[in-house]
Amino acid sequence: MKIIDLIQGAETPFVSFEFFPPKERDAWPAFFRVVEKLRAAHPLFVSVTYGAGGGTQANTLDIVSALKRDYGLEPMAHLTCVKADKAVISEFMDGLVAADVGNVLALRGDPPQGDAEFVPADEEFRHASDLVAFLSRRWPEACLGVAAYPEKHPRAASLEEDMGYLKLKLAAGGDFAVSQLFFDNALYFDFTAKARRMGIEAPILPGVLPVMSLPGLKRILALCGASVPAEFMEALEQAHEKGGAAAVSRLGVDFAKRQAKELLEKGAPGVHLYSLNKAEACLEIVDHLGL
Ligand code: FAD
Repeated sequence: MKIIDLIQGAETPFVSFEFFPPKERDAWPAFFRVVEKLRAAHPLFVSVTYGAGGGTQANTLDIVSALKRDYGLEPMAHLTCVKADKAVISEFMDGLVAADVGNVLALRGDPPQGDAEFVPADEEFRHASDLVAFLSRRWPEACLGVAAYPEKHPRAASLEEDMGYLKLKLAAGGDFAVSQLFFDNALYFDFTAKARRMGIEAPILPGVLPVMSLPGLKRILALCGASVPAEFMEALEQAHEKGGAAAVSRLGVDFAKRQAKELLEKGAPGVHLYSLNKAEACLEIVDHLGL
């Protein structure tokens, strides 16, 4: 089923989960045990990332196929322009169609590790909007999500310019957007209000990251450029020093619970949890939301 129809048909707030495909196949049984646990939270949909460099393209396909076939979940496969041309994209899309997976998050992708800049493999796929346009022309029945950046994409000249490109992606065939992670809800509500003023009507789902490790958070921040309120960062640093990963995770999950609850109370349609493939933390958050 199309995720946009699920979003529009949802009568109550919802959660969705993002997973990443474990690279090693021997880690898959443990991954699917996480999926099994999180299925109990009745996510509206689940999404599976697509690794920079294309290294995990087959893993993404196999995992979304299993999520649909064996777990009855509504999956969305991420797809990027990294090392992509029409043949690569078509092969991936044919695989999705064969697995009856009709939802794709269309992205430009981050540069492969070690590369400073994104270099298109094919001039036709320079931006996510190019991928969206191609997918919506060739697979008009697919439901397409796109990425949105409440604090702007780190390489964008300004928020206004970046939002112009968001509008372009949606006009090219995007059905809804999922936001980059953020820690200050005002950023999301200001962003959605600005988007509506620009004539963007598509749902914009807030992405929430439960912080579970300080080095992990720093790695993510270096890539995505999101800001962390100084007070929260200080508390995380102190927790890391005194209590290690367990103390950071306690703080991070409690923060995510409050953040997600406020998002829903103030009108977000749902919350997209960057699950980091951790079942217990996500279940605790969903429990707190009382969905
Ligand atoms: P674009 O929309 O193409 O934007 C990239 C930059 O180009 C921005 O600065 C934008 O302002 C600019 N731009 C856009 N269009 C134009 C244009 N027509 N002309 C000039 N400039 C333009 N990465 C992965 O590798 N795999 C994943 O699975 C993955 N999942 C993600 C999920 C979410 C929810 C989010 C928010 C991000 C995800 N990313 C993932 C990261 C994403 O690939 C990077 O942020 C990437 O740098 C930009 O992707 P985009 O789709 O937003 O690109």
